[in-house]
Amino acid sequence: MQTNPRNNPQILVCGAGGFIGGHLVRYLLEHGYNNIRAVDLKPLNAWSQTHREAENLVLDLRDADACLGATRGARIVYNLAADTGGVEFTENHKARSMLSVLINTHLLQAARIQGVERFFYASSAGVYANGKQALAAAPPLVESDAYPAMPEDGHGWEKLFSERMCRHFREDFGLQTRVARYHNIYGPLGTWDGGRENAPAAICRKVIEAKLSGSYSIEIWGDGEQTRSFTYIDDCLKGTVAILKSGILEPVNLGNSETVSINQLVDIVEEIAHVRVNRTHRLDAPAGVRGRKSDNTLIKDRLGWEPSIQLREGLEKTYRWIYDEIIRKRFCRRTSYPVNPL
Ligand code: NAD
Repeated sequence: MQTNPRNNPQILVCGAGGFIGGHLVRYLLEHGYNNIRAVDLKPLNAWSQTHREAENLVLDLRDADACLGATRGARIVYNLAADTGGVEFTENHKARSMLSVLINTHLLQAARIQGVERFFYASSAGVYANGKQALAAAPPLVESDAYPAMPEDGHGWEKLFSERMCRHFREDFGLQTRVARYHNIYGPLGTWDGGRENAPAAICRKVIEAKLSGSYSIEIWGDGEQTRSFTYIDDCLKGTVAILKSGILEPVNLGNSETVSINQLVDIVEEIAHVRVNRTHRLDAPAGVRGRKSDNTLIKDRLGWEPSIQLREGLEKTYRWIYDEIIRKRFCRRTSYPVNPL
């Protein structure tokens, strides 16, 4: 039976080899979309997940011609491609973070030329003005708190600029752009070591390693009293697709309103791991803003929905996955030694 192309639009997922992009391809396939082109810079064997039902392409989307090729025939574009990571990466790689502006710029241009109908851009809570996040108990961030602009240096400016590009491509060229401001997305298949991981993955890894090594001690960046909203991947996927389909024209928060300090995050991971660890607070390490919480009035009002997966539930799944990864890595390292000299 031939599929009606209107019900099965060509969807382009950029950054499909990464954490959220990989899950998004899976989610779309599970929801009946099977006309998917998945693109990432990394070689296929480095993608966090690949799906053979999708067309998987390795392309550098900083390049304008690559963007033209990637968007050919596409009716919907999800842009999740960026040179990005957690606070350690964004603090220490501001130029690289900002160079991701090339990806969104060339993708928008290509989408306009190719007649794409809807374009989703993954922005970040890093766009919010620093002054609104100076206290651990700072009020939740409403979307208008991004202005007057004083976002995170590097990463935040890139996201804010790209948001504005999306807005003006919609206003001036009629390209239907939608923008979500993600708040700390976490879950299985995310980066958990190497310097790009975010707090939930880093804390899970540290607690697991402390337990396995018998050291029972971990390092925490800052005094641990900084607060955040953490959003489980399943909520992120549901929200992303709903925002793409919605009439919400301005950037909208996509974050869980449950907020904890980093010390409370460690408490939860300790409970999951059935262990207590000694904590050393590294006050010289990058810790980001003091307090960041998602205000969900807009998303609730427009979608009748907000992220609701409890941190404890999401962390259990994430912890278990990272635990298995660490064990697998150790096992692989051992067996990679030449056991048979013949
Ligand atoms: P990720 O690093 O796992 O995925 C990004 C992917 O983009 C990577 O696989 C990378 O190889 C790819 N990429 C980088 N440069 C590219 C290029 N030139 N051409 C093609 N692909 C390229 O990150 P993620 O956590 O999945 O984040 C996805 C998007 O969501 C990013 O834009 C990120 O800034 C945004 N975001 C994520 C979070 C979070 O907590 N994970 C929070 C706020 C915003």
